[in-house]
Amino acid sequence: MNIAIIGAGPIGCYAGYLLAKTGHQISIYEKKAQIGLPIQCTGLLTSDFDMFDLDSCLVNTFNGLEINTSQQKIKLTQKEYLVCREKFDLHLLELAQQAGVKVYFNHSFVGKDNGSLIIKHKDQEIRIQPNLVLAADGPLSPVAKAYHFYHPQRKNYLGIQATVEGNFNSQAYHTYFGKDICPGLFAWIVPESPTTARVGLAVRKNARAYFNQFIEKNNFEVEVIQAGIIPLYHPKQKLKQDNCYLLGDAAGFVKATTLGGLIPGMKQVEILVDCLNHNKDYHQELKPLKRKLWLHLQIRKVLNKFSDRDYNKLFFLINQPKIKRVMQQHTRDNPLPLLIKTLLKEPRFLYFMKYLF
Ligand SMILES: Cc1cc2nc3c(=O)[nH]c(=O)nc-3n(C[C@H](O)[C@H](O)[C@H](O)COP(=O)(O)OP(=O)(O)OC[C@H]3O[C@@H](n4cnc5c(N)ncnc54)[C@H](O)[C@@H]3O)c2cc1C
Repeated sequence: MNIAIIGAGPIGCYAGYLLAKTGHQISIYEKKAQIGLPIQCTGLLTSDFDMFDLDSCLVNTFNGLEINTSQQKIKLTQKEYLVCREKFDLHLLELAQQAGVKVYFNHSFVGKDNGSLIIKHKDQEIRIQPNLVLAADGPLSPVAKAYHFYHPQRKNYLGIQATVEGNFNSQAYHTYFGKDICPGLFAWIVPESPTTARVGLAVRKNARAYFNQFIEKNNFEVEVIQAGIIPLYHPKQKLKQDNCYLLGDAAGFVKATTLGGLIPGMKQVEILVDCLNHNKDYHQELKPLKRKLWLHLQIRKVLNKFSDRDYNKLFFLINQPKIKRVMQQHTRDNPLPLLIKTLLKEPRFLYFMKYLF
């Protein structure tokens, strides 16, 4: 098939790579002159990442994380990876190009006219008529808007971070919860090395003010600030319309608890490619992944109603050896067994269910 992908981010390139490898003719149109920069991502991946060997872009490997609330500090053991997003994106681009994908930089999707896509390059408008269109054009997806199926109730967070110098324990990363620090989500300090860390937070409103306050409180000096929009999963977002599929951030495939989008987006790509190549029912095959994202969204809804007291209570319950043992066995990319097992071991977690209604 002749397939056009809009957006050469990690999701677009991964889709291009897998489809070209299986014999499709793929063109990727990317509005920027280059990919990977500016970096708008922390680059944390759970140990569930199994798409390719991370060696070429790995910055650090953690064996744990530390959670900080107003009253406590708890440590969890869990293996996680920190990647350089520039190298990660470039590696995927290289894989795609080696598989035969044609990548057109400085080519912006600007609209749709009946069956044609309109791509703008410098002052020129190019019309293309692919068999399929894959929209991997990020959280605001101009393609989904042109096809009129960008869900009007979708919501976004603003993530903001910087790389700072200091003294860090590079074996673990830190998260900070509390309404004065980062209402509704959390702030993070993710060490690249003992002397450098990525520091940031994500919120719905006033991101810059909370970020500045967090930086000042920790006495960090910031040179360059990176910021980006992160979509909140919306279960009613249609994923296909006519000959167009939404992928990755364009589809809102992001874990609503932590706002990580790389693994869900890449898993979505693998499912779509398998369905296209083997004539499987995409909506059926996608159900397990959508269930996971839905579960993250329910947890987010509960967390959104948390007071600082609730966070302290939650982490007090988590900070028990029997719960920590369960948390070490499952990553957040697999929330269902994690939830069931922790609930069976500690029914007091049910207290928080009241916030679901
Ligand atoms: C501060 C921050 C921290 C984050 N940390 C993590 C993390 O630790 N772990 C994690 O898993 N996720 C993280 N994320 C989320 C992660 O960055 C995204 O989920 C991921 O980048 C999604 O990839 P994508 O390819 O779908 O979209 P994008 O990376 O946004 O790529 C979309 C591409 O489409 C291009 N494009 C857009 N419009 C057009 C157009 N009209 N024509 C042509 N091209 C177009 C863009 O230029 C871009 O190259 C973070 C995000 C932010 C903002």
